[in-house]
This record gives sequence, C-alpha cells and structure tokens, in this order.
Amino acid sequence: MNRSDTAGRADHRTPVLIVGGSLVGLSTSLFLGRLGVPHTLVERHAGTSIHPRGRGNNVRTMELFRTAGLEQRIGRAASVLADNHGILQTSSLVDDEGEWLLQEIDPGGGLARFSPSGWCLCSQNDLEPVLLEGARELGGDLRFGTEMMSFDQDAEGVTALVKSRETGEHTRIRADYLVAADGPRSPVREALGIGQNGPGDLFHNVSLTFTSRGLAGVVGDRRFIVCYLTNPDADGALLPVDNREHWVFHAPWHPEHGETLEEFTDERCVAHIRRAVGVPDLDVEITGRAAWHAAERVAERYADGRVFLAGDSAHEMSPTGAFGSNTGIQDAHNLAWKLAAVLGGWAAPGLLESYDAERRPVAEATSARASSRSSEHSHPGYTPAGGPGGPGGPEVPGASRWSGWARCRRPRRSRGPSRWSRCCWSRWPRRPRRPRWPRRSRWRWARWPQGRHPQRGALLPLPAWRGPGRGPGDAGHPRRGDADRRARQPRPARVAGPRRHPGLHARPVRALAACC
Ligand SMILES: Cc1cc2nc3c(=O)[nH]c(=O)nc-3n(C[C@H](O)[C@H](O)[C@H](O)COP(=O)(O)OP(=O)(O)OC[C@H]3O[C@@H](n4cnc5c(N)ncnc54)[C@H](O)[C@@H]3O)c2cc1C
Repeated sequence: MNRSDTAGRADHRTPVLIVGGSLVGLSTSLFLGRLGVPHTLVERHAGTSIHPRGRGNNVRTMELFRTAGLEQRIGRAASVLADNHGILQTSSLVDDEGEWLLQEIDPGGGLARFSPSGWCLCSQNDLEPVLLEGARELGGDLRFGTEMMSFDQDAEGVTALVKSRETGEHTRIRADYLVAADGPRSPVREALGIGQNGPGDLFHNVSLTFTSRGLAGVVGDRRFIVCYLTNPDADGALLPVDNREHWVFHAPWHPEHGETLEEFTDERCVAHIRRAVGVPDLDVEITGRAAWHAAERVAERYADGRVFLAGDSAHEMSPTGAFGSNTGIQDAHNLAWKLAAVLGGWAAPGLLESYDAERRPVAEATSARASSRSSEHSHPGYTPAGGPGGPGGPEVPGASRWSGWARCRRPRRSRGPSRWSRCCWSRWPRRPRRPRWPRRSRWRWARWPQGRHPQRGALLPLPAWRGPGRGPGDAGHPRRGDADRRARQPRPARVAGPRRHPGLHARPVRALAACC
C-alpha cells in the first residue's frame, strides 16, 4: 500500500476510521457506537462473511455483546447450534468408538456462577450480520465494497484514500484516529513497517463446506462442536453448520510438500470425506472451499502514532481453542472506550498507550495456548506423521508441540494451580510430567508419532536454526527465509503406526474453553 503524499483536502471527516468490516471491525464499530463516537468503517467486500469460520464466542465476548444490547439477538442467530457442546475424537463415525475430549464447555457450570452470560456457538456468517445491524442502529457509517488504498498520518490526524469497488470513485477521508482491523495480512501493519514475533506458520487446511442429508443419520445424537476424524488415510475435522444438511470439513493441506489447491478436486474431497466418516457411499456435495493457514504471530507493537492494530492484524493464532476472534473482539472493546475517553476530552491521549500494554501480553499468552491446544487435539494438518512439524516431517517453526507449554509452565512455583494454569485454562486436572531441560537448550521435546500422550516422547536436538543465540530476533522465533533453511535439512524417515494414544482422555477433563 502506498501512502498518500499529503493530508490534502478531505471529502469526509470522522473521528475514527475503521479499516476492515469483519468480526473485529464490526465489533469496534459497535462499541464506539454504543459510546456515541461517530465513526466510518470501510470494508472491501460487498457483504459479510459467507463462511462459518470462527464460531466459539467465549463468556467475556458475550458479556461485551450483552453490554452492547446484542446478546439475545446473537442467541437467536445461534439457536441452531445451541445443543452442540462437546469435542469428539474418533476414527470413524459409523461405530460408537471414540472419545469425548470434553463433553461440556463449562463442566459443572463453574463459569455460569460468575457471569450472566455463557459460551455461545455462533458461526461467523451468522454473527457478522447481527453485529452489522447493531452497529448501524447505533449510528455507524459502514461502507461495504469500499477499499482503503492508501493512508498518511501527521500530528493532528490520519488521511486515507478509499475507493468504491462498485463505482471506482475515490474519497479522501480525514480521521483523528485509524483502527486497522484488516486481518492477518494487514496492509496497514505492513505500511507502518510493524514486524511480528512468534513461531510463524503452524499448519495449513482447506476448509470445505458441503451438504449431505445422510450424514445427520450417521452422526445421530452426538451433538459435537467439532469432531476430529482420525483415520490415518483421511483425517480431518468435521463441524456441523445446522446439524441436518450443512457441514464443514477441515482437510489437512501440505503446500510444503508441493501439494496445490488445484489438487483438491470435488472428486478427491468427496472421497476424503467419505473415508474419514467411514461411509463409502455417503451423499456429499461440495459447496465451497477456502484455504487457510494457522499461525502464531503477534505484532511487535499495537500502535504507531494515531494508528492502532486490532484483531488478526495484531495477532494470529491457531483456531483450536476459539481464541482468535475472541481476543480480537476484546481488543476492540479495550480500544473503543479509550478512544471515546480521549475524543470526549475526559482522558489525555496518553491513555491510548495502555492499549498496547494491556492487550499485547494477552495475545502472546493466548496465541501460545492456542498452539499447544492444536497439539493436544492433534488438529488435522498440525502433526501428521511425515507432515510439517510432525515426526518424520520437515521441521516447521512453532510446530514444536511444546512451544506453548514451555511458555505456559514457566512461572510455576508450587504444586497448586499456577497463575498460568488458570490464565491458560488448563485442560488437564494436573500437569503431565515430562523431562525438564534448561531454558536455552538445544533440545526440543517431540512425541512419538503414535502417541498423543504428553508423557510419551523424546528429547531431540533442535535444528541449528532453531537454537538460541543466532542473533537478534532469531531465538526461537524464525522469520522469513526459514522455509529455505528447512528445505535444506534432511527429512527423517516417516514412522508408521497409529497416531493417537487410546487412553489419553480416559481421565476426566476440566476444560473451560474449547472449540474447533
Ligand atoms: C477456519 C477458521 C476457524 C476459526 N475458528 C474460530 C473460532 O472458533 N473462534 C474464534 O475466536 N476464532 C476463530 N477463527 C479466527 C477468526 O476467524 C479470526 O480471528 C477473525 O475472523 C479475525 O477477524 P478480523 O476482523 O481481525 O480479521 P478478518 O476476519 O481477516 O477480517 C479482515 C477484514 O479486513 C478487510 N480488509 C483488509 N484490507 C482492507 C482494505 N485495505 N480496505 C478495506 N477492507 C480491508 C478484509 O476484506 C476482511 O474482511 C477461525 C479462523 C479460521 C480460518
């Protein structure tokens, strides 16, 4: 994105310009509108998301939507999945095998004692229209089909050049502040030269939407949020959209092995879903496909002058655990009241500095937790035998299954629940024991390919480029160019064997948060 040369003469003035009209941009608009702050939002797409994508809205997010007066409307939009609770893992859906990784999001109703709101499973394509409607009712100027082409900032404000994708007309907007909710590739973050920290790409999936009338009969009364299908020849994650006819299937994708999206033909996808479900003649019609990349990255800073990053532009995290959009929506709330305070004159601009201080550590902890949850749930594509980051596969930044754990365990001092285990919503009643190693060692913990059990594994030497002390910014946080280094490394042989430990989840699970 090229910055515009000068502030110039503005066609439109607004206190806050929001770039991006997905979950986080719409939430920012909603929270600003609720506080009476006039604002303009530009979104390059013509409408809201048509793909279910993020679905799990946690208690805090629902509390925020409650304050904005939308809790009931969201509940109605989400009613179709109101009875879906658990996470199932099974090798096939045709028998009763399989384990519930958890059966309730809030087992025992512990959270319900502290909040009037509860978890709500509402697909992004159902949630966004509710947010859009609510934001417009509160006076937001929301312009879809409008792309921000460039921006520039000075001491007094930000000037942005936006273009209508329908008419091609350009408009110059002058704002006091700009909120970039423009997603993981964030052109605004790029233009500001704000780097990112974190392990980087974790795994790749192709998300297939499909219809099947017969699948509801196979699933029966198992009302899961997500079902991890673990057939080694056809694994994936199955998600209900309406429990009847519409479904989503996340299939692992391995571009690092040269696999292209064109190879995901309808025939191949149908065959894969049938094999994964275990019904060779299941009726399946593919209705859409979207490639997506799970990553763990957090922006080096959340603000540059009068420009603020929020949502995926500030942090990317694995979808496992449903942390991504929740963290972004909570960024939006934090930023909105501070902007309202400063623009309303009852706080000094220095208040806005607390946005980075308060929200960035949350993203760092949460993105690490999301990665470790991907490992615990063996999210399809994350650690397949021979796959990226898995045993026998090429090393992938962040695919060290314990990268998150290593961080989570750090401040542990007593045998009681640590502040990290509380903050990270630990899934196990107690921590699994595993060998300790010096914090800056050249060893990493790797599990056996057949084991999901955290106590089964081995210490393996880190590849040279993952070791510490390779210069600034490279201590365990690989950046661009790592792929080339990875490619030069010899790949260990693929190890055969069943992928999951059968007894891991026999113990009761105390999960507070999970989805996907
Ligand atoms: C398969 C999948 C499942 C997920 N499941 C969950 C889940 O269960 N729970 C959860 O919390 N999260 C989940 N997530 C993550 C969640 O979808 C994202 O965190 C969330 O969508 C981020 O919202 P965002 O508004 O920050 O960014 P995005 O959704 O990426 O939106 C950015 C928007 O900015 C617009 N934009 C970009 N540049 C411009 C420009 N120059 N001008 C105008 N518009 C622009 C884009 O068009 C886009 O609409 C999932 C993600 C995936 C991929």
